[in-house]
Amino acid sequence: MGFFRKFIDKLSGKNKDNVADQISEINSKKKVFKEAKQSKFDEGLKKSSNSLNLAIKELIKKHTIINDDFYENLEDMLIMYDVGYSAALKIVDAVRDEVVFRNITKLDLVKEILIDKMLTYYIQDTDLNTNINLENGKTNTILIIGANGVGKTTSIAKIANYFKKENKRVLLVAGDTFRAGAVEQLNEWSKKLNVDIVIPNKQNQETASVIYEGLKKGYDEKYDLIICDTSGRLQNKVNLMNELKKIYDVIHKFDPTAPHESLLVLDATTGQSGLSQAKMFNEVAKLSGIILSKMDSTSKGGIVLAIKDMFNIPVKFIGLGEGIEDLNTFDLEKFVDGLLSSFDSVIK
Ligand code: GDP
Repeated sequence: MGFFRKFIDKLSGKNKDNVADQISEINSKKKVFKEAKQSKFDEGLKKSSNSLNLAIKELIKKHTIINDDFYENLEDMLIMYDVGYSAALKIVDAVRDEVVFRNITKLDLVKEILIDKMLTYYIQDTDLNTNINLENGKTNTILIIGANGVGKTTSIAKIANYFKKENKRVLLVAGDTFRAGAVEQLNEWSKKLNVDIVIPNKQNQETASVIYEGLKKGYDEKYDLIICDTSGRLQNKVNLMNELKKIYDVIHKFDPTAPHESLLVLDATTGQSGLSQAKMFNEVAKLSGIILSKMDSTSKGGIVLAIKDMFNIPVKFIGLGEGIEDLNTFDLEKFVDGLLSSFDSVIK
């Protein structure tokens, strides 16, 4: 049994019921994305797993007793691991309380308490439902939002590839009319994957206008899935809000229940500053989830905790590599077990 299952078994009271209920609800729903293998998560999270393991080992080696100095270094270690300042403070407090409560003096035992408290922090008040809200037998629309370079185009190609292989009719809409080369890049992907695409028909065409043309084709011709790219321009809040309002107004004309997913792409390697920049998207868009790209390239898996703090919307997809197959639905159990894959069996 993996650490995550052991952890759930150990939880008590309301917390346990809440997590167990959410997990059984997730499992009972028909998933549109097939489950990824544990080995994919282990492989993709290797850097993060190794660095966390090493950091904890070094911390324990440096200290002989559990004192204020130890807690200060633990806090620094968590911040280095991209957990974010406020989460780091709360996790250290929770570790301290548990150590006092259980009268623990052995440093080695703190390891397990730490992992436990990080996980408890993540699942508390978190919507664990990462199901993708797409249905068979109708036209579904996904809107992809995010800053330049975070991995929007690649993630769109990965999602398109998946559904194409599931024999779905997929239409791409090249709405990123701001970044030079973005339309061409998506066009290339459409050729490689053999999926249809709508591109701007004139220079500097507005994103909302390209999306209108895309949706017209998509709904008229009854595609199963339309994936719309948007411009990743980080502008002021009012302009961004106006641009998104135009996009949502266009989409609602075709289907008041669309977009069925509005996904914000976050680059795991950009750390706190990248998250702070992206915060504006969350403030003005009605997001349904996050695509966390490039998790394979970071050694700081704690970013997931910072995301929870800053955004409080579920991570639905996780990018675990540059390859076209390297996008997976976010499975908390596999994620946690992947993060601990390089730990010794005392923890796992
Ligand atoms: P966009 O500007 O947001 O559309 O970003 P792109 O899709 O062009 O991606 C920027 C770079 O990130 C490209 O070199 C991608 O191959 C790379 N990339 C995207 N997703 C991942 C991922 O999950 N893992 C890794 N290692 N690289 C990724």
